[in-house]
Amino acid sequence: ASAWAAVPAGPPDPILGISEAFKADKDPRKINLGVGAYRDEHGKPYILGSVKKAEELVNSTNPDKEYLPITGLPEFTRNAALLAYGEDSAPLKNGAVAVTQSISGTGALRIGGAFLARHYPHSKTIYLPVPSWGNHTPVFRDSGLEVRGYRYYDKNTIGLDFEGLKADLRAAPEHSIILLHACAHNPTGVDPTLEQWAEISDIVKERKLFPFFDMAYQGFASGSTSRDAAAVRHFVAEGHQIALAQSFAKNMGLYGERVGAFSITTKDAEEKARVDSQLKIVIRPMYSNPPLHGARIANTILSAPSLYAQWEGEVKGMADRIINLRDEVYNHLTHDLKTPGEWSHIKKQIGMFSFTGLKPEQTRALAEKAHIYMTTDGRISMAGLNSGNIGYFAESIDAAVR
Ligand code: PMP
Repeated sequence: ASAWAAVPAGPPDPILGISEAFKADKDPRKINLGVGAYRDEHGKPYILGSVKKAEELVNSTNPDKEYLPITGLPEFTRNAALLAYGEDSAPLKNGAVAVTQSISGTGALRIGGAFLARHYPHSKTIYLPVPSWGNHTPVFRDSGLEVRGYRYYDKNTIGLDFEGLKADLRAAPEHSIILLHACAHNPTGVDPTLEQWAEISDIVKERKLFPFFDMAYQGFASGSTSRDAAAVRHFVAEGHQIALAQSFAKNMGLYGERVGAFSITTKDAEEKARVDSQLKIVIRPMYSNPPLHGARIANTILSAPSLYAQWEGEVKGMADRIINLRDEVYNHLTHDLKTPGEWSHIKKQIGMFSFTGLKPEQTRALAEKAHIYMTTDGRISMAGLNSGNIGYFAESIDAAVR
């Protein structure tokens, strides 16, 4: 018999399954709002002008294809940390941030999970917001951590359950690890305000929790990379030691190039050197060393002032397009169609996604009858909308909820 005769078939990936159903649909009106990848006004993947220029610059130097060090391209990781922590960051100035390149944000989370499982002395439990990005649970479970949840989203208000969040963080055992989405929470699009972040920081301090930030959308929320890093920077300024996963998939549109970074703040340069050595020991048996090309592109942008300025403008352009789409969807539903229900959450939500509040049976009906695809929890990727399909989208929502 085959060695694999007893291997059970696993469930399909919920998001990639939507893309397959979308591909198979022949209706010309079809819209894919499932996958979290930015689309331009024509519904096409978008390569940033700054990325194209950086790639030309990289190629013009005829670079070799030698291996990178285990922790990646040193200039890139330095610049990535600077982008996240800001130039006034004390641990950065003191040479106390241990940072490694990673296989995009997912790889950063995985390195962080494995490092904490091995070296964090107090707890092996990580608390995730409920709900969270679907891959968080398997990433951390496979890293060797136990996964639990804290309240985050309130179905009734389609907003933050701040009281529930605070109560659950206060009730978590001291020294537990808590995962925080730095900005543009996926899947809800609901973020704490700066005042709420300050309160969360106080509770984390009181309860001696260990904050692990996932920053997959820096710049994508507000259009400003520094504003979107405000929570991370507040925690660092408050003296917390943090872990941080960064991704350049969304903000540079480098999805398939797999560019990211994992960092951890330490007491001083000597401690950082010890943490660095252990990060290498975690990474080496996973994949030896990270890919070159995307890190070179990202580093070229981060280190050349004119390209950096162009990139910041392009990030803002993507964020602004999404913010405008939110207003347009709201106006169509509330003013043009007088759709039953309250839709202001679509305008208030932040980042790539919106939790529409649609029920699973409504999302299924939208796929079957209107050829509009989203996750069954009612999450839509805003950038899949454009002037060509937004009217049809709003009318279909209107029909689905009446
Ligand atoms: N964290 C969150 C919250 C995300 O939404 C994503 C992307 N969907 C990631 C991490 C990681 O993405 P990537 O590995 O492509 O950088």
